[in-house]
Amino acid sequence: MSNPPAKVINLADRRAKKEDDARNAPISGWITWLFCPKCHSLEYSEIEMPNGRVHKKCGTLVEEEEVEIDVRTEYTISLRNTKILEELFKQSKIPTLLKPLAKKGFGMLENLQAAEVEYRKRLENIVNGPVNPYPDEWDEKVLDMELKTLDPLGLILTEARQPNLHFPDVES
Ligand SMILES: [Zn+2]
Repeated sequence: MSNPPAKVINLADRRAKKEDDARNAPISGWITWLFCPKCHSLEYSEIEMPNGRVHKKCGTLVEEEEVEIDVRTEYTISLRNTKILEELFKQSKIPTLLKPLAKKGFGMLENLQAAEVEYRKRLENIVNGPVNPYPDEWDEKVLDMELKTLDPLGLILTEARQPNLHFPDVES
């Protein structure tokens, strides 16, 4: 006797697993760090320009370092940074946490938050649409990557967001 219901369930399971795998698959992309030798400025871009580019401000040809990224990893960690910042805003713990910076503290958090939002916008540009983050149980510590934690806030920077790794001689 055959067992059609089990088979149907099995297929549905497999389809669900396949969809799940697709949702959790890495998305390859690139972030390029741009260094202007004249202004000594560093900025990143998600736009690839194989023929080089000049610094808008001064017209000098910039030096470029490409960093391969998993868009989903970058996005997930950025979202987690945003959650940490939102918590800090909510708890208004800022003055104690950043005592020496108490006055500047709030503005600094706002700048950090704006940087996270901007970074995710660039990542969305890479894939031309929304990015699904990894699930909550995904742990960035399993990555074979030099993560930098910004104390005391606990924000995490991936290698792609640490320009000194790509331009070690430049003080940022
Ligand atoms: Zn310049």
